[in-house]
Amino acid sequence: MTPPDHADPAAATHSPDDDAPRAVHLADYRPCPFRLDAVELTFRLALRTTRVLSRLHFVPVEGPAQDLVLHGEGLRPVRCAIDGVELTGAALQVADGLLTVPAARLPAGPFLWEAEVEIAPEDNTALEGLYMSGGIYCTQCEAEGFRKITFYPDRPDVMAPFRVRIESDMPVLLSNGNPAGQGPGWAEWHDPWPKPAYLFALVAGDLVAVRDRFTTRSGREVALAIWVRAGDEDRCTFAMDALKRSMRWDEQVYGREYDLDVFNIVAVDDFNMGAMENKGLNIFNSKLVLASRDTATDADFERIERVIAHEYFHNWTGNRITCRDWFQLCLKEGLTVFRDQQFMCDMRSAPVKRIEDVLVLRARQFREDMGPLAHPVRPDSFVEINNFYTATVYEKGAELIGMLRSLVGPDAYARALDLYFDRHDGQAATIEDWLQVFEDATGRDLTQFKRWYTDAGTPRLSVTDDWQDGTYTLTFAQTTPPTPGQPDKPPRVIPIALGLLNPNGDEVLPTTVLEMTEARQIFRFEGLAARPIPSILRGLSAPVVLDRQAPAGERAFLLAHDTDPVNRWEAGRALAKDALARMVAEGVDPPTDLLAGLEAVLRDDGLDPAFRALCLRLPSEDDIAQTLHDAGRVPDPDAIHAARRRLALALATRLAPVLPAIHEQMDSPGPFSPDAASAGRRALRLACLGLMTRLDGGARAAQVFAQADNMTESLGALACLLDAGRGAEELAAFHARWRGNRLVIDKWFAVQVLHAAPDRLAGVATALTAHPDFDWKNPNRFRSVMGALPENHAGFHHASGAAYGLLADWLIRLDAVNPQTAARMSTAFETWRRYDADRQAGARAALERIAAKPGLSRDLAEMVGRILGG
Ligand code: ZN
Repeated sequence: MTPPDHADPAAATHSPDDDAPRAVHLADYRPCPFRLDAVELTFRLALRTTRVLSRLHFVPVEGPAQDLVLHGEGLRPVRCAIDGVELTGAALQVADGLLTVPAARLPAGPFLWEAEVEIAPEDNTALEGLYMSGGIYCTQCEAEGFRKITFYPDRPDVMAPFRVRIESDMPVLLSNGNPAGQGPGWAEWHDPWPKPAYLFALVAGDLVAVRDRFTTRSGREVALAIWVRAGDEDRCTFAMDALKRSMRWDEQVYGREYDLDVFNIVAVDDFNMGAMENKGLNIFNSKLVLASRDTATDADFERIERVIAHEYFHNWTGNRITCRDWFQLCLKEGLTVFRDQQFMCDMRSAPVKRIEDVLVLRARQFREDMGPLAHPVRPDSFVEINNFYTATVYEKGAELIGMLRSLVGPDAYARALDLYFDRHDGQAATIEDWLQVFEDATGRDLTQFKRWYTDAGTPRLSVTDDWQDGTYTLTFAQTTPPTPGQPDKPPRVIPIALGLLNPNGDEVLPTTVLEMTEARQIFRFEGLAARPIPSILRGLSAPVVLDRQAPAGERAFLLAHDTDPVNRWEAGRALAKDALARMVAEGVDPPTDLLAGLEAVLRDDGLDPAFRALCLRLPSEDDIAQTLHDAGRVPDPDAIHAARRRLALALATRLAPVLPAIHEQMDSPGPFSPDAASAGRRALRLACLGLMTRLDGGARAAQVFAQADNMTESLGALACLLDAGRGAEELAAFHARWRGNRLVIDKWFAVQVLHAAPDRLAGVATALTAHPDFDWKNPNRFRSVMGALPENHAGFHHASGAAYGLLADWLIRLDAVNPQTAARMSTAFETWRRYDADRQAGARAALERIAAKPGLSRDLAEMVGRILGG
C-alpha cells in the first residue's frame, strides 16, 4: 500500500520494494483531514496482555472526503468499529505501521472511532510506548510512541482533550490532567487542555508521594507531588524546591501561570533520556530527581534544578503551544532551553552559568556542526525523528532565541513573547509563526535571521583591526563551511557584542551590539585617546567561531582586565588552547603568560570561587583535537594527552605554594548546602586537589576521600586517585558502601572508565561489562560505561582500535533491545575523520560492522549511514 498524499509527514515508513528506510520531508506536510474533538481511553493493565480501549470523536474538515489514516505499531487489534459498526476486510487495511479506512467507508459527518487492542508492556525493552520500569507501568510517547499504545493520528498537530480510565490493582494510578474519580482497582483522569498524543502519560505502580502545595498568583491552589519508590522520599527535597522556584519564576518573568489542580512528577529508573514534559504528569529519569549530599554531586544538583525547570516551562512552551510537525522541534526545545538557561542565571551566578553553557555548546554542538551529522536547527528531512533530539536543535536552538533577544532588546522580546502566547495558545505552531510574531511586535524584517534556522554549520568570524588618527577600525568577515547537502551559505545577521578597553583596563566603550549583515563589514570608532583593546563577541553573543590572530599580550591583558567575565574567562581559554596546540605541534614548553595569568586569577580572592575554578579547568582533549583539526592538522590523541598532563604539571608546580592554603580556605564549615556559592567553593577546592595530586601522587586525595562527607568530594577525590594510577582500595570501599544505590553505582562504573589510563581503557571497560552489576539493559548503567568511553579521548582513540571495536559490539547488542539509546551513543564516532589513516580505518571498520548487521534498527542505521557519509 502506498500512503495517501495526506499521510503524516512525520511517519517514517518503510518503502515497500527495497525495505530501505525512507526520509520524510518538511515540504510534504499536509494538514490532517480530521479534527479530533475528544479522546476517551480505558487501560486494563496486565504485564503481557494490557487491553487499551479507545473512543476517538472525529470530525472531517471541509473539503473532499479523505481516507482515515491512523498510526499503529506492534498492536494486536481485538476490535475496531466506526459508529458502532465493526470493521472487517477491505474496510480496514493495515500495512507499514498505518491503518487505513477508505473514504468511501466513512460517514459524511462526525463519527466515533472505537478500537480495542492488546499490548505487552513487559516485553517492551525499547522504553517507548507503555513499558515496565522496576515493576512500575510507565509511558514515553514523544516523539512517536503513542502509536505503540493504540491506533491514533500520532502527529503533534492533532490536539484533543483526554479522559482516561485506568483499571489495575496497583496502588497508585496516574495520568494527565485533574483527577476525576477513583475507587478500588480504578482511577479516572480528565485533561481539559487539548494536547497532542506525544504528551500523553500513564503511570501505575507501588509509589509513595512527597507532597507540597503551590498557590498561583491568581490564587489557584495546586497540589504538587513527586512520586518515588518507598525509601527514596528523603531525596526529593531539592527537586521539590526547584519546582516551586520554577513555578514562581515563570509567573514573574514570563507571566505564565500553571493551569491544572495537580502537578505530578514520577521518577523511574529506566528511561532513554533525561525527562519528559507530559501534561501535568512529568516523568523523569530518577537521576534527575533524587539527590542528597551523600549521593549526588554538585553537578547533579545543578542538572536536577535545570531539568525540573525545563520540563515545567514546557507547560507553556511545548504543551499549551506545541509544534505543528516534528521539523519544528526547536520551536519548543530551543525556546525552553533558553528559558531554563535564563532561570539558572537568575538562581545562580549568571556569568558562571553562561560559561558552563558555552562549554557545552562548543563541546557538543560545534562538534556536531563541523562533522557528518551537521543539520539545520530546523531540519527539512529525517528518517527517524528520535535522531534529531540533538545539541543543534536544543542548544543552538536556544542560542538563536538569545540572539533574537539581543537584536530586538529585552523589552521588545517580552512584548513579542506576550503576543506569541496570546496568538498561538492552544495551537500547533511553526518557526514561521514564531518569527512572524517578532516581526509584528517589533516591525523588524527577520528574513535574513531565518537563515539561522534553515542553514546548518557554524559560521567563522574573522576580524582584523587598525588604528589611525584617533579612529579605531574593526573589519569583520564571515564564512560558513559547507555541510552535508548544503554547499553554499549566504551571510547571516550576526550580533557581535563588543567592548573596548583602555590600556589601563578602563572601559572606553561599554558593551554594544554591532549588527553584521554582510559577508564583510567595517565598523569605526572615532575620537579615542589611545588605541583600545577590543573585547569581541562578549558573552559569546552568537554561536560562531572567532578567528583572531591576537597580537602578543592581548589575551593575557583581557584575562587580567576584561570587564566582561565571560570574555575574561574566554581569553584564558584561548591562551590555553593556543598553548596546548603549540605544545602538541611544536613541542614548546607551557608559556609563562598563561601560567602567570592563571596564577593571578587563582590568587584573586575578590573573584567568585566558581569562576576561578572554571578558569583553572584546562580545555578537554577532545577540544584540543578539534582546535588542531580546525587549524588543518591531524590531531594525535597520545600527544594531546601528554601535552595536557604536561601543562597541568607546570601549572601545579607554579601554583604549589598557594594550593594547600586555598584548598583549606575553600572548605565549608557548617551544614552542607547545595547552593551555587557552596558548590563554587567545592569546585575550586577540587581544582586545587587535582593540581596537588600532580605533585604528591594522590596523598592528599586519599585523605580527602577518607574524610569526605558529600558525594562531590568523595567522587572528586576518587577521580584524582585514579588519575594518579592508584585508588583500588578506595574503589572497593566505594562499591561496598553504595552497592544498594543504583545512581551511585552508575558513578562507580563511569569514574573508572573516565579515568582509566588510555592504553588500559578497553581492558577496564571490558572487565566492567562482566561485572555482575552491569545491567546493560538499563540505559543509565549502559551509558555509565559505554557513554563514558568516548569521554576518555586518548583511550577511545587508542591506536589499537580496541575501544572502537568494543563500542561497536555493544551498540549492536543494545540496538536489538533499545534502538533509540543505541543510536544516540553512536555519535561517539562522529569525529572519526579528524584522525590519522590507521585510526580512521579502525573506526570505519567498526562502523561498517554495525552497518552490516542484519535487522539493524532504522534509528542506528540512519546514524551510522550519516556518520560514514553514505
Ligand atoms: Zn525539552
